[in-house]
Amino acid sequence: DVFQRVNVPDAVETVLALLAHKMGERIVVERRFEAVADLHCSPALLNQVVMNILSNAADAIEGRGRIIIHTESDADTYRIAISDSGPGIPAEMRDRVFEPFFTTKPVGAGTGLGLAIAYNVIQAHGGTIAVGEGADGGACFMITIPVNLKI
Ligand code: ADP
Ligand code: MG
Repeated sequence: DVFQRVNVPDAVETVLALLAHKMGERIVVERRFEAVADLHCSPALLNQVVMNILSNAADAIEGRGRIIIHTESDADTYRIAISDSGPGIPAEMRDRVFEPFFTTKPVGAGTGLGLAIAYNVIQAHGGTIAVGEGADGGACFMITIPVNLKI
């Protein structure tokens, strides 16, 4: 069974360590870990999703900024929200960012696959992923996953 009990904050820290070179001192990461439960998921795939979203956030923030990582859970649902202080995503573009090969980055800089992969992974976990505007005016990616998914 590739699904395991995963402590999401630990997974986030692992990914943040891998992205340290990209964030450096310029981006402050605020952790708001309020979830009590572990998440039943594929650890490798969850890391990939968190990596893709945080990597995009770091790309979006020019110069100094902030990323907020929020987790919460109840008996049924686990929620992860990642918001950044970048320029955000225009409302009319928000549906398209999950399409394979959609990218606004220069040729060679982005494959346009990061969020398409994230979308598929979250769907495979019976969850949803959506994007809106965060508290700092940038993008906010919101993930919900059933807590006790049995596959
Ligand atoms: P890539 O990063 O290779 O461009 P992604 O699938 O990861 O592909 O993202 C697709 C597009 O969504 C990006 O090119 C960018 O236009 C937009 N995007 C994703 N995350 C953010 C973000 N945090 N802030 C602003 N735009 C974003
Ligand atoms: Mg990306």
